[in-house]
Amino acid sequence: MNSAETPVPGAPAQDETDQILHLARLVQSGAGAGGGSEPPLTPAQWTALRYFARANRFSRTPSAFSEFNATTRGTASQVVKSLIGMGLLQRRANESDGRSALIEITETGRARLRDDPTAALGAAIAALEPGLRAALSEGISALTSSLARQKGTPVFGSCRDCRHCDLEAQAAWCHCTHSRLDAVEMGALCIDFAPAARRA
Ligand code: SF4
Repeated sequence: MNSAETPVPGAPAQDETDQILHLARLVQSGAGAGGGSEPPLTPAQWTALRYFARANRFSRTPSAFSEFNATTRGTASQVVKSLIGMGLLQRRANESDGRSALIEITETGRARLRDDPTAALGAAIAALEPGLRAALSEGISALTSSLARQKGTPVFGSCRDCRHCDLEAQAAWCHCTHSRLDAVEMGALCIDFAPAARRA
């Protein structure tokens, strides 16, 4: 599409669809290459490593990861198990629920993220002009919400854009999980996220 053309609302968007899929393939290309002497990771293993590095305490479970990665719980569990076997993730008792365990990234896992194949995309996004970057972020959020609604799956996001987050309280408070939120959690990924109007 010529950049001077104005898209017609509701018109088929095959060009944009193809561009998004092409971008995703570009990001994944080379993802299987190992970092130095490290064994290579599959795209699903990279996604899991990033996910458990960023997910909050309510979301660091294999079942939440299966929702994030749009796979079955069995597949998600296998990916998690493989990363635990490589020493990149570890299982830890869940202090707020003795029947379940939380998955945590290890120091080795964090070090491995320095070879993250999506870093080039992150750098390209960070280099965008601020207005374009904000528009991109808003557009991606709208698309994710629309598809998640159609498929009946959760939308992941962080506290800053969540309608459960109360910033008026003395300390940030989550009305969904009834817990106080610290600065690190405010930027973490959450399976209980509910999109709200963006704050300035
Ligand atoms: S405020 Fe929203 S994103 Fe943050 S922990 Fe609560 S439900 Fe999750």
